[in-house]
Amino acid sequence: MKIYIQTDIEGIAGFCFFENRKDASIENFQHRQRMRKLLTNEVNAAVKASFDAGAEEVLVNDSHGSGYNILFEELDPRCRILHGRNCSGPHWLPLLDSSFDALVLVGMHAMGGTPCAITPHSLWKINNGEIFLSEGSMAAAIAGDFGVPTVFVSGDDKITDEISKKIPRLRKVATKQALAPFQACSLIPAKSCERIYEEVREAVARRKEIAPYVIRGPVTLSLLDSENHAPPLVEVQAPVTCDTVSEAFFQYENTMSWTHFNQRDPDGFVFP
Ligand SMILES: [Zn+2]
Repeated sequence: MKIYIQTDIEGIAGFCFFENRKDASIENFQHRQRMRKLLTNEVNAAVKASFDAGAEEVLVNDSHGSGYNILFEELDPRCRILHGRNCSGPHWLPLLDSSFDALVLVGMHAMGGTPCAITPHSLWKINNGEIFLSEGSMAAAIAGDFGVPTVFVSGDDKITDEISKKIPRLRKVATKQALAPFQACSLIPAKSCERIYEEVREAVARRKEIAPYVIRGPVTLSLLDSENHAPPLVEVQAPVTCDTVSEAFFQYENTMSWTHFNQRDPDGFVFP
């Protein structure tokens, strides 16, 4: 059994504002290290749960910003990690295919424009507003095209609500109750890890009871966001229409400016 763990950082217990990648202060450095450690612990809980539920292979995708957040020296050595960024794209969900048995989402954030959610951003609009997707539910839809069910999500109460409405039988852990874009009532990290372990183990064991999340094509897709992720959100670029959501996503992503950066200087690339 193979499990793919897609990760982001905004949805972990303890996170309530974006890092500042240009701030070289000790305070900012310490804050970022702390968030990386908390993320690593939540991911480790999901990895251990997957193996304990019978997985033979677990692939972790470090997907926030630079793709270089998880303290991989501390990860369970039985898994493998995907990290860094491809200068010519696509960056998202590398190696995900129909050989996986389930997708697990850790640390997700709500879609752009969600009221009272922690750092909501990225609003994927399908067929002129027939369906709206967060980054988490977009990952679920891409996995769905491969026939892979999404069995678990963790993040604030807004993203776990959104995804569990789309995939009713998936297991979830609300790591925090979001009160505003930068304020939450959070589980203490040790409790969050304990809950993630319990629910992921259950979710992976029951993966066959959860249907893949499939959006029927053709699909017209666009992304709404803004430079600082705050409203009003605008279309990042013109919509694309394809037979499947996966094709539309990768075609759209490949034309986005942040997908292409100087191949000799990836460190100089500043991700929003
Ligand atoms: Zn992120």
